[in-house]
Amino acid sequence: MSKILVIGSMNMDIVTRVNRHPLPGETIHGLETSFFSGGKGANQAVAAARSGATVTMAGALGEDFFGKEIREILLKDSIDLKYVKNKNQTTGMALITIDVLGENNIILNKGTNGLLTEEDLAEIDWLQYDAILMQNEIPWETNAYILEKMNEFKIKTIFNPAPALPINNQYLQMIDLLILNELEVAEITEMAVEAEEDALRAAQILIKRGVSEVIITLGKKGAIYMNKTGTYYKSSAFDVQAVDTTAAGDTFIGAFVTSYLSNDDVVTSLRYAAAAAAIAVTLEGAQNSIPYSNQVNTFIE
Ligand code: ATP
Repeated sequence: MSKILVIGSMNMDIVTRVNRHPLPGETIHGLETSFFSGGKGANQAVAAARSGATVTMAGALGEDFFGKEIREILLKDSIDLKYVKNKNQTTGMALITIDVLGENNIILNKGTNGLLTEEDLAEIDWLQYDAILMQNEIPWETNAYILEKMNEFKIKTIFNPAPALPINNQYLQMIDLLILNELEVAEITEMAVEAEEDALRAAQILIKRGVSEVIITLGKKGAIYMNKTGTYYKSSAFDVQAVDTTAAGDTFIGAFVTSYLSNDDVVTSLRYAAAAAAIAVTLEGAQNSIPYSNQVNTFIE
């Protein structure tokens, strides 16, 4: 089993359904409120664990109710939390209202995710991991430190630059596998990416800038893969009735990375990841919609 260290965000999403959004200064009644454990780091950790990887999480939570709740939820997937620090601030959270038309208002408070520093990573026994998986929901300075360290240790680094920030070639060269969606690749390469051909051109640019392997996900249009030898593959999405695409990308990433580390086969892993994400979009919610490997394998058969 592959050992993956995910260093990233953990959030509590507080979702209230409303008939309509309140006006400034107005109080209205909500219809119902639900709590969902989220954050790209935690979602990808859960997706990898459910695909069979041995997962350790590093990040920061508050010493509050949500911090405790998130710990309990992640432990249910046997994710090792020994590198999750407690901080004296509120746990990261998203306050979400959704009206009857499905329109969202979201306030994202990064809370403790924004406090993770390189000092918080000092106890990590880096060499025991097959790969490090990271996103952009913790401070960039901390990610830059991790990239430099992994480059020195020659540990496989997988980076999902979401939300997108500009990134220079010095750091792109330290990334073994970059996985990003259409919007993120457009932001980083400064070119519009709509069709598959645009994605292939954008992937070429990223490879030229130093990334070893890149995957660009294109929602229901599937995904493309390219590596520095110029080999590329296109992968179709499965045709399913999407109900909620939240965490489709996170499911795809966790599933792909786990499969790829275990079989070193891009085509099989792209198909496995597309199937995992297809199952996730047929169910509501984020972490609760992420499938286990036996469900994914049955879906593919
Ligand atoms: P999100 O931000 O919603 O988590 P994302 O934008 O990071 O997702 P996408 O490119 O939308 O990621 O989707 C990732 C993968 O999930 C796609 O490559 C595809 O395999 C699958 N997927 C997404 N949407 C659908 C859909 N409607 N039907 C089937 N598969 C889908």
